[in-house]
Amino acid sequence: MNFKVPKGTQDILPGQSEKWQYVERVIRDLCEKYRYNEIRTPMFESTELFQRGVGDTTDIVQKEMYTFTDKGNRSLTLRPEGTASAVRAYVEHKMFGQADQPVKLYYTGPMFRYERQQAGRYRQFVQFGVEAIGSADPAIDAEVMALAMDVYTTLGLSDLKLVINSLGDKDTRDAHRSALIEHFTPVVGELCSDCQSRLEKNPLRILDCKVDAKHPAMATAPALTNYLTDSSAEYFTKVKQYLDVLGISYEVDPNLVRGLDYYNHTAFEIMITGEGFGSITTLCGGGRYNGLVEDIGGPESPGIGFALSIERLLLALEAKNIELATGNNLEMYVVAMGEEAKLKAVELVSSFRAKGISADMDYLDRKMKAQMKAADRANAKFVIVLGESELEEQAVNVKTMETGDQTKVEFGQLVQYVLENK
Ligand code: ATP
Ligand code: MG
Repeated sequence: MNFKVPKGTQDILPGQSEKWQYVERVIRDLCEKYRYNEIRTPMFESTELFQRGVGDTTDIVQKEMYTFTDKGNRSLTLRPEGTASAVRAYVEHKMFGQADQPVKLYYTGPMFRYERQQAGRYRQFVQFGVEAIGSADPAIDAEVMALAMDVYTTLGLSDLKLVINSLGDKDTRDAHRSALIEHFTPVVGELCSDCQSRLEKNPLRILDCKVDAKHPAMATAPALTNYLTDSSAEYFTKVKQYLDVLGISYEVDPNLVRGLDYYNHTAFEIMITGEGFGSITTLCGGGRYNGLVEDIGGPESPGIGFALSIERLLLALEAKNIELATGNNLEMYVVAMGEEAKLKAVELVSSFRAKGISADMDYLDRKMKAQMKAADRANAKFVIVLGESELEEQAVNVKTMETGDQTKVEFGQLVQYVLENK
């Protein structure tokens, strides 16, 4: 037998997992600053929730879902994204009735999509996302974008581009839809089979097609921006004003349409620019979804959110040679020579840990030299060596590894000494 991780998934081993924890800590701290609170929803939901919430004509629903029937004959789907679940919970727990509006939520957790595996594209990946539900204020659109940008800049990434667009309101979409149908109908035979069916069902999706991206009709397609109603245009202007106030630069791309059906008004992506990142340049996507809560059975509650994957974030950091200060912070390594010393070592290690000092020791009865090497590999700040004479004296030299300095400390004072000098 030769077992491997399933295609499109990965093991995150020690060495790498510290980076994940570091990034997750930065994310939690930022969410706290912006006052977004964590929501945890199940890893699977009824299939229908995603058909409705993500949209029947999307790639996700049509091709990418892990759907199964359980023993009770229910159709369930491993969540491909987080918004539908967050909105389901918002409706189910009547969060629209809370005094504090908008309800500002965040989540991190694995998502599942049956995709072709490539760099930055996995079948199980971890998304961090936020949803602000219950406000149609353009200032919250700007806040959500600011938070997304803050994640990257806090981690030291700078070659970023915030690309925004407005998808307008329903009237905008209807007018644009007719224009798109008129534009693509003459060349429909040259488009991929997906686009041929999109033309009738949801022509906006054609603009997001990866197969036909280079077809000449794409470049000349009618831009949504030209169909914005007055109120949509005004909304978009305000979003941009707030971004200006926040000092966040952006680029307007009239062809930006997002992969999910439910967006209106603001749509945005954060891309990474410059060398070293291969073909996948989008790190984060988000937008406004004013009809979604109603679609899922709640009262009218406008919302906006984004999602980004930690995998792509880490790839970006790697491509830009940014080292996270994860720290390898073993504070004390206790070397023990002989049976009796080992009893003392176990006792001391435990007393260090009890006071919040990270401590470790040898569990292979290795020779002194090998134990010292282990202490080196662990990057220990202090090392003590327990042998017969130390037990007799009830004192030991504490060696500061970086300088080589040694200080004799009584057993009873050890914890105190490390606490004062670490
Ligand atoms: P793409 O066009 O790359 O397929 P998408 O429109 O499907 O992206 P969203 O559903 O908006 O992406 O997800 C938001 C973010 O989640 C993406 O910008 C990306 O960072 C990340 N993401 C999406 N799919 C994957 C995946 N299969 N593996 C890793 N990260 C992903
Ligand atoms: Mg996708």
